Amino acid sequence: MINRDRLTESFLELVRIDSLSKKERDMADHLLKRLREMGLEPYEDDTGSKIGGNAGNVICRVPGIPGKPVLLLMAHMDTVDPGIGKKPVVDGDLIRSDGTTVLGGDDAAGIAVILETIGSLKEDGISHGDLYLVFTVAEEGGLFGARNLDISKIPADYAFILDDEGPIATAAIKAPFYNRFKATFKGRAAHAGLEPEKGLNAIILASRALSEMPHMGRIDEESTSNIGIINGGIARNIVSETCTVEGEVRSIHEDRLEQYTKEILDHIREVTEKQGGHVEIEVERMYPGYNLEESSPIICLLKDAAKKAGLPLNLHATGGGSDTNVINGYGIPAVDISVGMDRVHSTEERIRISDMEKACHFLQAIITTALTYNR
Ligand SMILES: [Zn+2]
Repeated sequence: MINRDRLTESFLELVRIDSLSKKERDMADHLLKRLREMGLEPYEDDTGSKIGGNAGNVICRVPGIPGKPVLLLMAHMDTVDPGIGKKPVVDGDLIRSDGTTVLGGDDAAGIAVILETIGSLKEDGISHGDLYLVFTVAEEGGLFGARNLDISKIPADYAFILDDEGPIATAAIKAPFYNRFKATFKGRAAHAGLEPEKGLNAIILASRALSEMPHMGRIDEESTSNIGIINGGIARNIVSETCTVEGEVRSIHEDRLEQYTKEILDHIREVTEKQGGHVEIEVERMYPGYNLEESSPIICLLKDAAKKAGLPLNLHATGGGSDTNVINGYGIPAVDISVGMDRVHSTEERIRISDMEKACHFLQAIITTALTYNR
């Protein structure tokens, strides 16, 4: 049986562990121990050394009935700042932070729900197919854990990432592809008082390119862009030689992402060259997007499981990126499902115990419904 008190204790224990991105050592050790106590054989991969962190992803197979769909269940171990010394406050059904840090329910709630659900399946002897549990590092700020995962060791048919907000049985089934770019404008330095005419001001180059930038902000219903960082100049009395501008473009549709990115960068180049300046541009695809059809098997599975758990299914598109993007990019259909977290990435973060409990029932329904599906 899903045990509310055990779930609550487990969640409180998890959020009391400091686990900032790339500093998940204590959390990884805690999870390795918990999984071993459940009679499982978890291991840690080498992602930590690859990304300059102190822990790798924690991975664990839960053997089940062979020949049935294999499910990957995921949550991330890291939390955002301010996240040191988290002191959860239990207020009836609500758990919140004490107001000085985030609560860290993003994503300790996902971990707690997975552990409680697996624990109760084992306890009650409920049948299931093979399950893989993956607790990633450094999801925040770059999805580094998921991107460094050796997916060849995880032969999953479907993946469920427990890292969404909203009522339980909310699932993100669309998320954007994401490009980041950095433009370095190159001007010419000169003394600003003695011979400014010999200089070419990189800050002015950048500002002219930015002032009439096409496609800024909300581009269309499923595409956005932003300029997030600008840096330039070294002193008031020097005509600035360099200026860097960093931005991003997102779209649910890969072709539109590429089109908008190209038009933005072409504009930057054109305007800069017209002024006699030069700009160097780097573009990087940070992660792929996903766009699951409502008729796809994983969505059918979600619908059947929601019906079984008696919860209204709420499918939505998200503008953010999560480990779900990366797993879809590996070719495994993946959805991001809600565990009830609320006001995440703020010191007002909170979560309801009853929502986490419901999330366990929904996850159990997903696991048992999958048994009725073919691989
Ligand atoms: Zn998260």
